Amino acid sequence: MTQPAIYQRVLLKLSGEALMGRRDYGLDTEMVGAIANDIRDVVAMGVQVCVVIGGGNIFRGVSGAASGMDRAQADYMGMLATVMNALAMQTALERRNVPTRVQSAIPMSSVCEPYIRRRAERHMEKGRVVIFAAGTGNPFFTTDTAAALRAAEMHCDALLKGTQVDGVYSADPRKVADATRYEKLTYLDVLANDLAVMDAAAISLARENHLPIIVFNIHAPGAFAQVMRGEGAFTRIVEAEL
Ligand code: UDP
Repeated sequence: MTQPAIYQRVLLKLSGEALMGRRDYGLDTEMVGAIANDIRDVVAMGVQVCVVIGGGNIFRGVSGAASGMDRAQADYMGMLATVMNALAMQTALERRNVPTRVQSAIPMSSVCEPYIRRRAERHMEKGRVVIFAAGTGNPFFTTDTAAALRAAEMHCDALLKGTQVDGVYSADPRKVADATRYEKLTYLDVLANDLAVMDAAAISLARENHLPIIVFNIHAPGAFAQVMRGEGAFTRIVEAEL
């Protein structure tokens, strides 16, 4: 018998790059569909799921700033990119009969709902997947920070960070053969060693709100559901035990 989910409500953070597949830019429909399948399966387990999607596959504020744009202006463009990704994921989920709402931190009433905390919680209680778009709505932040913020606001049991590998390693496992995966790290380990998991603001926010971060491989089919049962490979980031 398969194990039941050990979480009731989670937030999944996807980077824009996760939706890119083998392309250099933009969206790969197959990849979006594969991730939507995994989200559908987790929803079917009875887990309430919300999602924060990045925009790095389309536009990053720092790149715009590097080419001479005003940083805040470039960041707003980055936030708009996340809305495109959110709409793509909404389509993929709805094609799989998963009820979905997109809420944007930058109001965009013709395409999606504005971010309203209590409404988002209500959607989740009804089994709808809420996709949070436009990050925090503020320049100079990242969608990782938006993920920690929304996860705290939604009272999620965990923040799931879907990455290219199945956890946090001592070195890049795609480059270093004997790199080892950490089963568990503390927030301070990540901050002190500058481990490239999420930015420091996101880690600090998660820490302050006692929000476990689980890093897993978003490209391994079924891994999201496995993690929800406490199975498979992943790294947990939590507070040090006293
Ligand atoms: N961004 C922002 N404020 C936020 C979230 C995102 O200004 O709260 C902008 C920023 O320019 C960033 C871009 O949106 O580069 C895309 O987000 P991010 O880089 O976090 O996406 P990811 O790396 O997850 O694909």
